[in-house]
Amino acid sequence: MTVNLYSDTQTRPTPAMRRAIAEAPVGDEQRGEDPSVNALCERVAALLGKEAAMFLPSGTMCNEIALAVHCRPGDEVLADVTSHLIHFEAGGPGALAGVLIKTLPGTRGVFTAADVDGAARGGGRHAPRQRLVSLENTSNGGGGTVWPLATVAAVAAAARRRGLAVHMDGARLMNAVVASGTPAAAYGAHCDSIWIDLTKGLGCPVGAVLAGSRAFIDEAWYLKHRWGGAMRQAGILAAAGLHALDHHVDRLAEDHANARRLAEGLAALPGVAIDLAAVATNIVYLDVAGTGIAAPEIVGRLAAEGVVLGAFDDRTIRAVTHLDVDRAGIDRAVAAFAVAVSGPR
Ligand SMILES: *Cc1c(COP(=O)(O)O)cnc(C)c1O
Repeated sequence: MTVNLYSDTQTRPTPAMRRAIAEAPVGDEQRGEDPSVNALCERVAALLGKEAAMFLPSGTMCNEIALAVHCRPGDEVLADVTSHLIHFEAGGPGALAGVLIKTLPGTRGVFTAADVDGAARGGGRHAPRQRLVSLENTSNGGGGTVWPLATVAAVAAAARRRGLAVHMDGARLMNAVVASGTPAAAYGAHCDSIWIDLTKGLGCPVGAVLAGSRAFIDEAWYLKHRWGGAMRQAGILAAAGLHALDHHVDRLAEDHANARRLAEGLAALPGVAIDLAAVATNIVYLDVAGTGIAAPEIVGRLAAEGVVLGAFDDRTIRAVTHLDVDRAGIDRAVAAFAVAVSGPR
């Protein structure tokens, strides 16, 4: 059996989730008549402490719609230099919302109120208008970092002092919630818009839910329609989300324990460097420069043994734990890694 640590995007729906999908009551989602979608939106709005929520095909669409609702073309968004918005959404912020992004120099994806203050522009009509601060929790590029609630509160307060709205990219928000014990709604209280992915840690095949005020979601609906994200009998997807919220949240703690076990096992290998203090949730970044073997070569050797990882560049490998990887799989991955890095240079 393959041990797939490439990404938590690679999970397959469990048999129980497939049953929930098969039995889902459905209707016309665009008309607000799909009971499963409606139940999911109510549930996620409550979870995140917001008035309303909207079901969307992907987290990317949540981010892009949120930017376009908060901003007008030519406005500026503040976001961490590693953020998904900048690197992995195919230029969407520029192409769809027409915004500029000013990067903030966070630590492992987490920036501070001082960074927000430091990004302020002088007044006048020469400068782009700043509208929004975007936070990613957990930070993917930062290595699965959890935003401390106090930091979110301080950043949000700094944003409000300057009239900026606050958006949270919560692709892995439930990982942050389980790892920190901070309720999702406590994060939500500081944000004007916030979303969770149903894929990734929650293990669904499709979907994400964006939440905010009633007025924000009403406006977001125009873009959902305009960009082709309004669906029909989407309840078969929402049912998976409801199932995941019932059964796949608490178990994220297992993914975090597996990531730690993996990190500790790999850090003990010669030439492999891991910042163990930085392993907070389900993502592990490894620096393999010390092995004298290029990261893509190591990844190739492991793939031949049925252990799948991703090389980011010549020295960096990323491993992500999830629903489809158990503790035995972690031990197999560590054993295979030990063989791979002791092979020819
Ligand atoms: C995966 C991811 C997204 C995009 O979500 P999709 O559902 O894959 O479109 C956005 N932000 C972060 C931090 C992510 O990891």
